[in-house]
Formats: sequence, structure tokens, C-alpha cells
Amino acid sequence: MKYAENILGTIGNTPMVKLNKITAEIPALVLAKVEYFNPGQSCKDRMALKMIEDAEADGRLKPGGTIIEGTSGNTGMGLALAAIIKGYKLICVITDKQSKEKMDILRAVGAKVVVCPTDVEPTDPRSYYSVSRKLAEETPNGWYVNQYDNLSNTKANYEQTGPEIWDQTDGKVTHFVVGVGTGGTISGVAKYLKEKNPNVKVWGIDTYGSVFKKYKETGIFDENEIYSYVTEGIGEDILPENVNFDLIDGFTKVTDKDAAVYTRKLALEEGLFVGNSSGAAIKGLLQLKDKFGPDDVVVVLFHDSGSRYVGKIFNDDWMRERGYLDDEITKAEDLIQD
Ligand code: PMP
Repeated sequence: MKYAENILGTIGNTPMVKLNKITAEIPALVLAKVEYFNPGQSCKDRMALKMIEDAEADGRLKPGGTIIEGTSGNTGMGLALAAIIKGYKLICVITDKQSKEKMDILRAVGAKVVVCPTDVEPTDPRSYYSVSRKLAEETPNGWYVNQYDNLSNTKANYEQTGPEIWDQTDGKVTHFVVGVGTGGTISGVAKYLKEKNPNVKVWGIDTYGSVFKKYKETGIFDENEIYSYVTEGIGEDILPENVNFDLIDGFTKVTDKDAAVYTRKLALEEGLFVGNSSGAAIKGLLQLKDKFGPDDVVVVLFHDSGSRYVGKIFNDDWMRERGYLDDEITKAEDLIQD
């Protein structure tokens, strides 16, 4: 008999899929690491479990404790699965920018969800950073996960995602492209791949409204770079500990519109029903096309599933209201017509 002891045993070992139409202009082989095959439908299952295991091991998380985290949804889902199996309570602090589906899904797997405003400074007591910290202080036997600065996040990707990419490409990977939020995915994978082959180049995908690209290029944390944006999952108004800038060769920024349109294209052209940050990742990869030659093997990671964006990216009215479906592109099918 072949079965997992519980749902946590199905995390990882996600497939790699060759991209064909959407990357037709790229001379290299482009492979997508499709992370929605994880049980919580995102890459974040890996780091959520790792953060919990490491906290159990050193006593930060005690039996029957309450896990508290500020999460845009995917980390919350990963934490929820682990909390169910391991017997912890979970409080997720989320911003009002996040899709309703994400909040409903978190509640469905037993999390208590606290919603905070998006457009306040991180230091504002109403911000989701501040609210999470305060809840952790006030909740007996509470543990604040802090995925931004908790280095178990990077470690999970160093131990799992990096080796999987190396093995699945027979060590032939030359470039890795991925959206950056907490930085755990890019830093963990970059560390592993560059240890195996220092010539591997790693590119981060950033959003307009986030500080990463400017910081990498100038070393300046420029507050003028910070403004609200629509793309979910990537970009930050802080510099998380998990972003290891030394391991990242560069960033490219993708607009909200492009991220949304290319998410739709991935579904229509490749059959990959992926989330908003995956659209940003593939558009960013196309922006970087001059960096890739015919012998290169470029791996792009798609963090999550389109199912969490059915009310937004995959809703024509929502897209049209924001001007993301313009005159020539009035309905989804038009995205793939000549
Ligand atoms: N895409 C999505 C959908 C995410 O939830 C996240 C995590 N915030 C990311 C990309 C970025 O991954 P990381 O936090 O590892 O940088």
C-alpha cells in the first residue's frame, strides 16, 4: 500500500512543466515548477511546516499552543494544515487587499481570521505587522511565526525546492526566476543552486510599489518606491530578513496590469491555472529575454493556484473595471486570438 501518514506527507516533489506558447520568443528551454500541486495549493506549505517544526524543536511553540501570523493567505493555509495535524490553534492576520476566497479558505481549515487595513504604515498600530505582534504578546501560549524574518522559511526552500529543481533538471538549470515577497523562496533556492553551480543566475520579480529593485540597485531603502498596488503575493514595503540580496543577481518590475493579463494567458495558452504572482513571474521572465541563450535552462516558479483569484483576475468585470481588459482585449478568449 502506498499512502501518506497524513496530508503533510504530500508536501513537495511538485512537477516541472515545459512552457511552450507563452515563451515562444525565448530561445532557451523554459520550465515551470508548479507549486499548486502542494496540498494547500501553494509553495508556502513547505516553509509553513518547516517553521512549525523548527519552533517545536527549540521550544518556541509548545503543545496546545496558538500560532499567530500575518499572512496573505498561502502561508496561512500551510500553517492551517500543519496546525490541524499537530493540534495547534491558528490566528491569521490578513490585509483587506486580499481576495475574499483566501479569507474563506482559511476559515474553512479552522483558522481565525483578523482583517487589517492595507494602506497604513508598517509601524501603524492598525497594520497587520503590528496587530500580529500584539496578538502574539497577548495570547497565552502564543507563538508569532513572522515569516518575513523567520529563517526557517529560507531553509525549507534550501532543503526542498532547490534540490528538487536541481534534480529535475539533471543539474542543467542555468537561470531561476521567481516572484519575491518574504524572500524565502528565492533565497533558499538561490543558495542551493549557487552552491551546486555558482554560475546559476537568479532573478527576482518585483512589483511597482515595492522597495526591492531599487534597494538591490542602489542600496537605498527609498520610501518613494512605496505605494499601493494590486498584485498579490510579491513586493514589500519592508526589507525582510529572508531576502538575501547577495544571492540575487537582479530584479525586474512587472505592472499590475501585465501581471493580471499574463496570469490569464498562462491559463489559456498553457493550461496552467495559476495565481497572480505567476503572471508577474512569466511576464518578468519575458522582460529578461535578452539574458537567455539557446543552451540555457530557465526555471520559473509558479507559487499558487488560480482558484484563489476567481473573483479577481479570472473575473472579466473586475479586470475591465481596472482597465486590464482594454479595447482589443474585451473578453478572456481575445487574449489568445491574433
Ligand atoms: N506568490 C505568492 C502567491 C505568495 O503567496 C508569495 C508569498 N508571499 C510569493 C509569491 C512570494 O514568495 P516568498 O514569500 O517566498 O518570497
